[in-house]
Amino acid sequence: MTALQLDHVTKIYPGGVRAVEEVSFDLAPGQRAALVGPSGAGKTTILRLIAGLETVSRGQILLAGRDVTRLSPRRRNVAMVFQQTLLYPHLRVYGNLAFALKMRGAARSEIDHRVREAAEWLGIGDLLHRRPWELSGGQQQRVALGRALVRRPQLFLLDEPLAHLDPELRGQLREEILRVQQRLGTAMLYVTHDPMEAQVLGQRILTLRNGGLMG
Ligand code: ADP
Repeated sequence: MTALQLDHVTKIYPGGVRAVEEVSFDLAPGQRAALVGPSGAGKTTILRLIAGLETVSRGQILLAGRDVTRLSPRRRNVAMVFQQTLLYPHLRVYGNLAFALKMRGAARSEIDHRVREAAEWLGIGDLLHRRPWELSGGQQQRVALGRALVRRPQLFLLDEPLAHLDPELRGQLREEILRVQQRLGTAMLYVTHDPMEAQVLGQRILTLRNGGLMG
């Protein structure tokens, strides 16, 4: 069984841009892969296709053996973290972390447990009562990562989540992401421009050029 399988996936945007061409690869359960390549190579598009935020033009996407190619994002159990994540401005950190679980109708005790656990893993346990605008950029990205963690998805999709942070913070958070991913054993696809990040976080490195995988 694979956690994720892309089978000859092609994306042609309206207007004819061929963003992704015949991409096939898979991730084993718990495996981490870094997706690298120059700007415009199609990295973000691949993540968005897997998350269901864009429709596939041709090909198939399977999650844990299930064909999700035509399913809405809600029906795919994946969590995506972006370069800059907008937190819900009217909710405190706690509310931001709890939001997806509340929507899902989880029990209050379960929500509380997962929120506090994720906050502790990410070092934001003392920020649970803050509003998003009272947080630094690094703290906001920790909350964004926490929102993905509490959901216990089948797959993490991270799109340069550390790109806007200073080098020291990047290094710290990189290690934290690695630690938490290993603890949860959830497969992860991580887009980055940073070779160091790709080395540390990717057990495999997938290189993309002009929409196609190299090698
Ligand atoms: P990367 O993440 O590697 O920088 P992207 O996946 O963002 O690359 O983009 C791949 C190609 O698809 C680029 O040529 C980009 O201009 C194009 N593209 C991305 N999004 C859209 C869109 N919504 N409509 C049309 N073209 C797009």
